[in-house]
Amino acid sequence: MLIVTHFAVPFYSYYLTDPFLKKYKDKKELFLYSCVIGLAGLTPDIFRAHLTLQSRYNAFSHTAFAPMIALLVTMLAVFFVGIPKRFLFWIPLGVTTHLLLDAVSGGIRLFPSGEIIGDSMIKFSFWGFFEIFFFSLLIITYKHDIRKFVKKAETYN
Ligand SMILES: [Zn+2]
Repeated sequence: MLIVTHFAVPFYSYYLTDPFLKKYKDKKELFLYSCVIGLAGLTPDIFRAHLTLQSRYNAFSHTAFAPMIALLVTMLAVFFVGIPKRFLFWIPLGVTTHLLLDAVSGGIRLFPSGEIIGDSMIKFSFWGFFEIFFFSLLIITYKHDIRKFVKKAETYN
C-alpha cells in the first residue's frame, strides 16, 4: 500500500477508539496524538522505501522484528522522554498495521529470508483509490474537528 493509507489506518484506529478510553481536553490533542500513531505506521517505509515487491521482501523493516523494535524504542521514550504510556501499545500497533496492509497487498516476509506470507488481495491498481479516499477523509477530519475547535477558541478569546 501507499503512504496515505499507511498513515490513515493507524491514525483512525487511534482517533476513533482512544476517546473512549481517555477524556481529551480538546480535539487538537487527539488529532496530534493520532498523527504520531499515523507516523508510526509509516516507519517501515521510512527505513526502507520499497518500489518493488522484491525490495519489500528484502526489507528488515517489513518483518515481525519491526513491531518488536518499535516496542523497545517506545519503552525507552516512555521512561526517558515521558511520552504517554498508552503509546507502548499504539506505536507497535501502528507498525503492525503497516505489515498487515502490505501482507494483503503483495505479501511480506515475517522473518528475514523466511517464507512470504500474504497475497495480492488488494491489487496494485486499487491502491490509488485508497489513497484518494483516505486523503479526502483526513482533510474532512482536519477541517471538521480542528478548524471548528480553533474557531471556537477564537470566539472565547
Ligand atoms: Zn511497506
